[in-house]
Amino acid sequence: MKIVINGIHANLRFASAHMIPCHESCGGIHGHSYHVDVTVEGERCGEFGFVADFKTVKGIVRKMCKELDHKLLIPENSKELDFKSKDPVEFSIGPKEYKIPREDCCLLPLPSTSAEELSEYLANRLFQALREEGDIESVSVCVNEGIGQGAFFTKSAE
Ligand SMILES: [Zn+2]
Repeated sequence: MKIVINGIHANLRFASAHMIPCHESCGGIHGHSYHVDVTVEGERCGEFGFVADFKTVKGIVRKMCKELDHKLLIPENSKELDFKSKDPVEFSIGPKEYKIPREDCCLLPLPSTSAEELSEYLANRLFQALREEGDIESVSVCVNEGIGQGAFFTKSAE
C-alpha cells in the first residue's frame, strides 16, 4: 500500500535560489518556490496498521526543506564550479566570479541543483530516515519548481 503527501496542502515547501551553470536561460542566479510531494510504499504494520505515520514523514521532509529554505543552493560536486573557498563561499564559473556569505548558502553534495538532482537527494535521505523507523519498500519524492513542473525519483530497497 502507498501513502501520498501533497506538498502544497501539507506545507512541504522551500524557497531557494540556484543556477544551472552554462545553461542559456537558467545560468543566472534565480529562484523557485519549491514544493515536495511524497509517496511512501510498504506493508501496513504496527498497532495502527500504518504504512508510515504521516506526522513522522512530514516532520522529516519539513526538516530537510528547512535546510534549503532561503538559501542559495550550491552543488559542491559540480564540474563547472571552481571553488576558492567554502567560507565565505567563493567560486567561479568560467569568467563569472561569485563570493557569498556562508550563512546564505546551502552546500549540497551534488553535481547540480536541478529538480532531478534535488529529488534524488531528498528521496535517498527520506528513505534512510524512514528505514530507521520501520520497514518500508520505497520512497518517491517529486521536487516541483513551482506549480506544473517537477522531477520525480523513487528510491527502493535493494
Ligand atoms: Zn531554476
